[in-house]
Amino acid sequence: MSDSVVIVTGGSRGIGASVSRKLARLGHTVVVNYTANKSAADTVVSEIEAKGGKAVAVQGDVGSESDILNLFKEADQLGRLAGLVNNAGVVDMSQRVDEMSVERLNRIFNINVVGSFLCAREAVKRMSTKHGGKGGGIVNLASAGSKLGSPAQYVDYAASKGAIDTMTVGLALEVADENIRVNAVRPGIIDTELHASGGLPDRVAQLEAKLPMKRAGTADEVADAILWLMSDQSSYTTGAILDVSGGRAILP
Ligand code: NAP
Repeated sequence: MSDSVVIVTGGSRGIGASVSRKLARLGHTVVVNYTANKSAADTVVSEIEAKGGKAVAVQGDVGSESDILNLFKEADQLGRLAGLVNNAGVVDMSQRVDEMSVERLNRIFNINVVGSFLCAREAVKRMSTKHGGKGGGIVNLASAGSKLGSPAQYVDYAASKGAIDTMTVGLALEVADENIRVNAVRPGIIDTELHASGGLPDRVAQLEAKLPMKRAGTADEVADAILWLMSDQSSYTTGAILDVSGGRAILP
């Protein structure tokens, strides 16, 4: 598998960083995408290299088509693309819908939805047997928010993740006979810096007692599920949305 390249968008921190490290341990060359924090991306790459793996940090905003095209161009230099983890995603400050600006809505949907679609488009162009590729895997990052709606916090984010649920199913069926599997993980409350970026640094501590398992999940626990979906061990699984939420929001 050493010639196989996997792109992890937002691979420099949180869940993406854990996925990047784990994919590298399996022998994949990992493209660690980030948008602002170069030092976090460089740290992940150094950690991977220190363990004998291969990784490259590539700056790029998934909210920009030209950055995405560049990201895939960089990946093309490294070998055959075997997978994409559509992980980059953002939240904004807590607001009601009647307070949200069009700028906020465009940013959330552009990064979380359009960015995931464009990355999937580029991956399918390279991996689909229809386009001369050898196949591969795509894993999208959904969210329990798509079922809960995240009222008075970020309904926009929750709705963007609802779009990811639908995209996962539709794209999975579109490319099912082109040797590409498309799945999603749907995390609950995971202990990463995402919550602080939405202005709620204490969100995990505040919610833990209310969660079914009385604790948040870790980035590693989500990454393990992503790894399974990327691996041949899930060879008959496509269009699946796997709840990795410690029991939060598991009912339809
Ligand atoms: P995180 O800790 O905030 O890390 C976000 C990562 O994405 C960073 O590497 C960041 O890079 C990168 N990123 C942000 N905006 C980007 C952009 N426009 N283009 C490219 N990269 C970008 O997030 P996380 O908690 O690991 O979340 C990862 C995914 O899981 C997201 O899709 C999120 O919605 C989903 N999720 C998380 C939770 C949770 O509780 N944490 C729950 C459900 C779903 P920089 O360092 O350069 O900013």
